[in-house]
Amino acid sequence: MNPSIINTMTRLKTELKPADADNVFKMYCCGPTVYGPAHIGNFRTFLIQDVLRRTLEAAGVKVKHVRNITDVDDKTIRESRKLGVSLKDFTRRWEDKFHADCAALNMLAPTVEPRATEHIKEQLELVAKLVENGHAYVSDDGSVYFKISTFPDYGKLSGLDPESLRTQNVNSAGDANVADEYERDSVSDFALWKGRKPEDGDNFWKSPWGEGRPGWHIECSAMSKKYLGDTFDLHGGGVDLCFPHHENEIAQSRCASGAKESVRTWFHSAHLMVEGAKMSKSLGNLYTLDDLEKRGYTPMQVRYALISGHYRQQLNFTFKGLDDAKSALAKMLKSLKACLASLGISEGDFKGFVRPGAKFEGTAFEPAWRALCDDLNVPKAEGEIFTAFASKSVRTLEDIKAFGSLMYALGIDLFAARANGAEDASGSVEAPAEIVELAKARWEAKKAKDFSKADSLRAEILAKGWTVLDKKDGFDLKRS
Ligand code: AMP
Ligand code: ZN
Repeated sequence: MNPSIINTMTRLKTELKPADADNVFKMYCCGPTVYGPAHIGNFRTFLIQDVLRRTLEAAGVKVKHVRNITDVDDKTIRESRKLGVSLKDFTRRWEDKFHADCAALNMLAPTVEPRATEHIKEQLELVAKLVENGHAYVSDDGSVYFKISTFPDYGKLSGLDPESLRTQNVNSAGDANVADEYERDSVSDFALWKGRKPEDGDNFWKSPWGEGRPGWHIECSAMSKKYLGDTFDLHGGGVDLCFPHHENEIAQSRCASGAKESVRTWFHSAHLMVEGAKMSKSLGNLYTLDDLEKRGYTPMQVRYALISGHYRQQLNFTFKGLDDAKSALAKMLKSLKACLASLGISEGDFKGFVRPGAKFEGTAFEPAWRALCDDLNVPKAEGEIFTAFASKSVRTLEDIKAFGSLMYALGIDLFAARANGAEDASGSVEAPAEIVELAKARWEAKKAKDFSKADSLRAEILAKGWTVLDKKDGFDLKRS
C-alpha cells in the first residue's frame, strides 16, 4: 500500500508513487533560511516531511529528497552585516546548528542539500530564459521582474481570486517592490534578480543586467530543476509558503520550461501555535530545541510531540503536550519490552528491525500502518499502536518486525528516548574516550568563541550517538 496525502493544488487525496521510469520518487522541500536557530515551528514542518519520506520508504518506495539551504536573502545579509562577518561564515554557523538539531531529532539527511549561493549560475540561466521568452523584464536599477500577467495560472495553488490579481510593481510607499516576502494582498510582479544596493555590502554577483543577487523565489526553481527535473513528484513546505513563494516558483518554473506541470503533488503542513497564539519573537513564545532541552525534555520527546498532530491541522504546542509525549514514549517502550521478553527477542535484535521492509498485512500493526498511509494520519496511527499493545494482539516475530518498520516510518527511537529519560534517567553512562576528546575540543572552541567549529564538533558527536550538555564550567555527555 502506498501512502496518500491531500494535494494542495487539487484538494484531492492523492496516492504517492514515482511517475518517472526510473521509479524514484522525487521530492523537494523548501529548506531553512540560515540566519538564526530554527524554531520548533520550522521543525514541525521539517519533521512532517521526514515522516512522509520515511513512510514512503517503509512502503518500499525509493525516494530522492532535496532540501535547499537559503544562505542569501534580505535577512541573512542584514544579520551578517550587523555582526561584521562574511555572509558565508555567518550562514555556515547557523547551517551547522540546523544540522545538529536535525540529527538530534532523528531526521534523515536529505539526499541532496544544495545551497543557494552555490547555484548562482543555474539561477542566472533561468532568469535569462524568462527575459528571453518575454515572461520577465529588466528595470532601470538592473533588477529583473517576473511579469505575472503573462502567466494565467498564477494564484491557482493558493486559490487566489483571479479578479483580485493585479499587476503592480510598486509597494504601498510607491517604491519598487523587491522584498523577498510581501503581504498577501499585494500581488505584484516579483524580483527574480535584484540590482546591487549599498546595503548589500560585498554580497553581489555579476549578471547580464549588472551586479546584483538573486531574489528568494528563483533559487528553489533553479535547484529543483537541476536535481529533480522540470516536473517532479512532490513539493513540500509550511502553509505560509503557498503564497507568494510557491505561486512564484510555479510561475517561474513553468514559464521557463514550458511544462504543463512543474510539481505533481503539493504538500503543505499547517502551523505550530504556542499555547493558542502564533509563535513569534515579539510575543516571547518562540522556542528552539535548546530551550526545551534546557527545561529537561529530550529531542525524542520533542519529535513525538511535534509529529503527533495531523499535518493539515494547526498544532497547539503546550508543555502539557510535551509531558504527554514523554509518557507516551515510556508507555510504548514498556509495552514493547514486555512483548520482546515474552517472545525471547533481544533489544539488539529489535533495533535491527527498525528499518523499511516489513510486511504489515495480517500483523497486529496493520491498522496503524493503514492510518499512516491514509493522508499521513500520525495521531491515528499512534492510537492504533496503543490499541494493538493493549489488546494483547502482538504475538509473533512478524508483529515485532512490523512494529520496527512503523518506528522507522515515524522516526521514533524508543531506546534513545529511554536513555534520555523517558523511562528512567540513566543518561549519565560513561562516554568512550573518542567522544570525550571531541567534546573537549568543542569546549575549547566554544571558549575561544569559534562557534562554527564548536557547532560542527557538536554535530559530529551527535552523529556518533552522543549529546553534549553544557554546564557552567564544563560539559556532560549522554547517549542520544
Ligand atoms: P524559513 O526558514 O523561515 O524559510 O522556514 C522554514 C520552514 O518552516 C518553511 O517550510 C516554513 O513554512 C515553516 N514554518 C515557519 N513557521 C512555522 C510554524 N509556526 N509552524 C510550522 N511551520 C513553520
Ligand atoms: Zn522554496
